Amino acid sequence: MADFNRRNFLKVSGIGMTAAMGGISAGQAQAAEHKAPMAGVARKIPLPKAKGQRVVIIGGGVSGLTIARYLKNQDVDFDVVLLERNALYQFCPISNLYMVGGMDLGYFTRSYLDAARNGDYTYVQATAYDADLDSQVVYTDQGHVAYDYLVVAPGIDYNYGSIGVEDPVDEYKLRQRYPAGFVPGSEHLTLRHKLQNFKGGVFVNTTPPGNYRCLPAPYERTCLIADYMKKNKLKGKVIHLDANPDITIKKKGFHAAFEELYSDYVEYIPSFEFNGVDVENKVVHSTFDKVEFDDASIYPRVRASRLLEALNIAKMDSPQKEADIDPFTYAVKGYPNVFATGDTRWMPYSKSANTANSEGHFVARVIANASKGKETEWVSPHTVCFSMVEYDPLESIMVDAHYGYDKKKKKFHFANVHLQEEWNESLGQGTIAWGESILSDISGGAAGG
Ligand SMILES: Cc1cc2nc3c(=O)[nH]c(=O)nc-3n(C[C@H](O)[C@H](O)[C@H](O)COP(=O)(O)OP(=O)(O)OC[C@H]3O[C@@H](n4cnc5c(N)ncnc54)[C@H](O)[C@@H]3O)c2cc1C
Repeated sequence: MADFNRRNFLKVSGIGMTAAMGGISAGQAQAAEHKAPMAGVARKIPLPKAKGQRVVIIGGGVSGLTIARYLKNQDVDFDVVLLERNALYQFCPISNLYMVGGMDLGYFTRSYLDAARNGDYTYVQATAYDADLDSQVVYTDQGHVAYDYLVVAPGIDYNYGSIGVEDPVDEYKLRQRYPAGFVPGSEHLTLRHKLQNFKGGVFVNTTPPGNYRCLPAPYERTCLIADYMKKNKLKGKVIHLDANPDITIKKKGFHAAFEELYSDYVEYIPSFEFNGVDVENKVVHSTFDKVEFDDASIYPRVRASRLLEALNIAKMDSPQKEADIDPFTYAVKGYPNVFATGDTRWMPYSKSANTANSEGHFVARVIANASKGKETEWVSPHTVCFSMVEYDPLESIMVDAHYGYDKKKKKFHFANVHLQEEWNESLGQGTIAWGESILSDISGGAAGG
């Protein structure tokens, strides 16, 4: 959202200029907050008086929750405010197991109230829609809040235009009837209901191109849907349409699962050039072909949350419009006190929970050091990703990797990659144990029921 009037008012009134002349203090930021003319809710979010420098975090996903909790573990007294639009936290990994009835919703959901109490920070249920990075104020549907440091961690949005669905009417039909299931919220519940009501026939599942959220998850989903059909003796198959020339990760393991476990249930079609979805007639079109389905989950290409554009911090010339940040500090270009993290980062890391969690630990240290005028040496995030190929008994494959940086080529690459592509029950148990440990790390609480 280009908020020309408000931003120009701030510049003319001198508030923006003060900031440009060397940054503004918390006190100044709070004064600026009172003067800012407002669209929407024209009030300050009522919060207890900040006891230390205030860090506002937008987005309570894996990234925001980790940073909120670990900022409070630093040797600096930060006042941490988490702005999250949802009332309930939902952990996306292992949601494919929920889809096939292998676990309850309560197991992978958490209360933001509990997480905030456990972590000694403040959770405000609010949707951020803009921020003025010069006067250090975030605007939400519940009012505005000033900050000393800002973390922008709102995750991803879908890009339906990338699969040839441009008309908003068609997009909403597609979103509602055949959701991708890659953002927290209702999508996972809808996918579970779909499967429970599936009477047989073709279920289309898809993989987008680019650096999409959780590389192995679409293939994992195909395995589990096929397993569900097999276990429930449904006459049907999963047609997996992949925009990529081959399975993008754990290729050997997933191909083996498709061929050895589900040869009667999975048809894998690579290099599928998506060119529209006819929701009424249940047809996915490619440039040269079409695939009819009875039910589907359609995963379009991802892009960083559109909030980044409102904040003017997106790399607009990149296909996924991720945050324009220094890759070693996560600081937004031109704003050393603003950080963008999690799946909004542009670096080619796996967009996954373990990556966001390990990175969150690092960014909390970066902010603590920055408040003391110190720099922090870059540490690679750590990607650990289990994928279930069967449930009951649960059997998984996995990958564990770090990242390196090639100074000559100025590029990041995978480092220390360990793949385990032969499924077994011990990796199945590892999947659940991993999920529980991340959930407990980000929420400070034990697994639910
Ligand atoms: C089906 C599935 C399977 C997966 N499997 C794995 C796996 O096996 N292993 C693994 O490591 N990862 C896995 N992932 C990926 C992992 O869940 C994500 O990469 C991770 O959640 C990214 O964290 P994030 O904080 O960047 O984004 P998110 O977790 O999406 O959090 C973003 C948060 O920001 C909030 N938000 C957005 N906009 C606003 C706003 N304007 N105002 C306030 N709040 C806002 C959202 O409500 C959300 O809570 C999987 C994901 C899915 C969907």
